[in-house]
Amino acid sequence: MSRLLIIGCGGVASVAIQKCCQNSEVFTDICIASRTKEKCDALKDKLAGTTKTRIETARVDADHVEEVIALIKDYKPDALLNVALPYQDLTIMDACLATGVDYIDTANFEPENTDDQEWRVIYEKRCEELGFTALFDYSWQWDYKERFENAGITALLGSGFDPGVTSVFSAYALKHYFDEIHTIDILDCNGGDHGYPFATNFNPEINLREVSSNGSYWEDGRWIETEPMEIKSKYNFPEVGEKDMYLLHHEEIESLAKNIPGVKRIRFFMTFGQSYLTHMKCLENVGMLSTSPIEFNGQEIVPIQFLKALLPDPASLGPRTKGKTNIGCIFTGVKDGKEKTIYIYNVCDHEECYKEVESQAISYTTGVPAMIGSLMVLTGQWKKPGVFNVEEFDPDPYMEALNKWGLPWVVCEDPETVTVWR
Ligand code: NDP
Repeated sequence: MSRLLIIGCGGVASVAIQKCCQNSEVFTDICIASRTKEKCDALKDKLAGTTKTRIETARVDADHVEEVIALIKDYKPDALLNVALPYQDLTIMDACLATGVDYIDTANFEPENTDDQEWRVIYEKRCEELGFTALFDYSWQWDYKERFENAGITALLGSGFDPGVTSVFSAYALKHYFDEIHTIDILDCNGGDHGYPFATNFNPEINLREVSSNGSYWEDGRWIETEPMEIKSKYNFPEVGEKDMYLLHHEEIESLAKNIPGVKRIRFFMTFGQSYLTHMKCLENVGMLSTSPIEFNGQEIVPIQFLKALLPDPASLGPRTKGKTNIGCIFTGVKDGKEKTIYIYNVCDHEECYKEVESQAISYTTGVPAMIGSLMVLTGQWKKPGVFNVEEFDPDPYMEALNKWGLPWVVCEDPETVTVWR
């Protein structure tokens, strides 16, 4: 019996909430709270009569710590799942600290306003010291470690698919298949087609910021940064087929470099079609990806937020998307003195996801692990004071839960490896 407060009611939240409602034995009570309460109420109405989970809804602006604290004091949850935006990570963690409630999220902190001078000074110092220029990094949330330890509460960071499941795959590979892992290639392939010339599969602002940034990878103890889309490859994905993919910076590289002992290289690749890349470059060239406010007809607008209003809502892609995703990791390393390579991956079918929860596979592959991370914390299987990434806990119960709750995985012991060219 447990009470979970869920903040956010977008594409990922909608899946996480429906999965909690399929598991009413653990999630006896949930409260869906977001900036737009009507969305929470609509989801509650949709689920009425289909679940034993008792659902409440609330309005909260999680940019304001005091509002989150008041909501926590009122609802008294055992844990809080943050599936709003990365901008709210720190205010929500502050509220959890103030009230002694466990915290789970799916993405690390980045600021909404990258012109904020206080943030920028720290960011520029980090770029120089660590050698990567992504706007997001774990330092902000890792900084809460001692405070969470002292408060006796758990923060579980990054329980989506990537980061999340890919990080748990890494812990599982290390536990069961290797004495030492030397390289990790994380491959994120979306073989789905929604029929639009251009749309993003999750929040456009977060997605476009990520994809238009410099790439980077970890090698021999340091970051190597590349131009956006500078490193290209092709891979023949099981159940999807051959796709072009590009090296990106991705947040789990930072935590895996710290938590997988002896790892020599970690790279992340994502597949993109040419149409997506051409649209993105054009939007970037005309300034539509900018996060800096501009004056227009006497009103201040942020170009990327205006673009978000024009693009299809990711939640609306569900009924149109056909095809499959394949996301996983190729590991090389040694076991009993012998070199070996394995590939652990999940394949998810967009149309099957839609049939089950009325959303496409990108929200599904993130929402299911968000529910599982909450399950691990609420059932005490992953619970200790401090701030942790998912690969720091025993991967076995999480891997079992993936099979049970809709994201079955495959271990291939003789995979094709990745060849890159620029
Ligand atoms: P959406 O934009 O669909 O949903 C975001 C939700 O958060 C909306 O309901 C929005 O409310 C709400 N929200 C935004 N600001 C606030 C605020 N200040 N206070 C309260 N609620 C707020 O995003 P997604 O569902 O696509 O993504 C959710 C999270 O999942 C993001 O952090 C994203 O980075 C992460 N993610 C992680 C992945 C992984 O594999 N680890 C993959 C994909 C996404 P409103 O309706 O009012 O706008």
